[in-house]
Amino acid sequence: SGRYLGIDVGGTRIKWSMVEDTNVVAAGDVPTPRQGGEALISLLKDLTASLDPTTRAVGLALPGLVNTQTKSTIFIPNIPGNWMNYPIAAELERSCGVPVFILNDARAFGHAELIVGAGRGERNALFLTLGTGVGGAIARDGRILVGEIDSIGEMGHVNIDAAGEMCGCGGVGCLETVASGSALVGYMARAALTSLSPALTSVLGDRGLQALTPESIAKAADMKDPWALAAFEKIGRHLGLAAGTACVLMQLSCVVVGGGISGAFRHIAPSMTAALAERTSVTGAIALNAAHLGSESGSLGAALYAGIRTELEAKLSSQE
Ligand code: BGC
Ligand code: ZN
Repeated sequence: SGRYLGIDVGGTRIKWSMVEDTNVVAAGDVPTPRQGGEALISLLKDLTASLDPTTRAVGLALPGLVNTQTKSTIFIPNIPGNWMNYPIAAELERSCGVPVFILNDARAFGHAELIVGAGRGERNALFLTLGTGVGGAIARDGRILVGEIDSIGEMGHVNIDAAGEMCGCGGVGCLETVASGSALVGYMARAALTSLSPALTSVLGDRGLQALTPESIAKAADMKDPWALAAFEKIGRHLGLAAGTACVLMQLSCVVVGGGISGAFRHIAPSMTAALAERTSVTGAIALNAAHLGSESGSLGAALYAGIRTELEAKLSSQE
């Protein structure tokens, strides 16, 4: 066995977990440097320096497209920097001395939820993570699909509105412009400019609009704030339509929702369930579940992936 270090780079925080078998034995997190690029790389070097000697490999989850074979980044929409063909794994391997494997953050989340979370025992499932962006992963026959450029399951940039808003990827009308944590905060900021209900005013307190977060918006929805309820309804509807399409396309029977706004799953689930059912009326019922793991799912999944790749490479080299 041995240990694997998993690191999950998010839009706002970088989380790490040291994993043995499927257990997290130590964990921590630091803020993501706002400048991105070099500052981020040097922070990752610090995190992987002086590893415990039992560490066999590092798994690094990044919020964008990466080449899992050449282990270079391709496109990371919500973090500044020039990520085109950047050999990030090789760079970290030089300083930490063990193999580094990279993958997309939502695929890492999918690995963790499939192996030890809400997707346990599922063969064919869709995993969605809602944070700064919208990420996705697909399990078929009990395995998370990881392609060469790791774009399998990339739901956030599926176009759902040809005349929609600009997205961080440079496109227009992507799912994540209407259904991410950032989109939720955006809806509420606009609504608040129109009128502040007593419930919303009380939840926001002195910090005003700066206190708008998925958590505070969920609290306002608990207090029946009409804007918050409408925002969650809209997000659930978009997610349900998009997830339903994916379920038909890939013949999936279960959807797991996690990420920063999954704490508000109760507010998203009703409209999402209805939209899912609309899209999948022919193929049959789809189970909709909240993720079981908390914010450590990405780093845990990255470590599990590093374990899978390490074993795979050992098997291949023993066959040579
Ligand atoms: C990126 C995905 C990522 C997701 C969640 C999206 O903007 O394109 O690759 O998985 O955000 O971080
Ligand atoms: Zn996009």
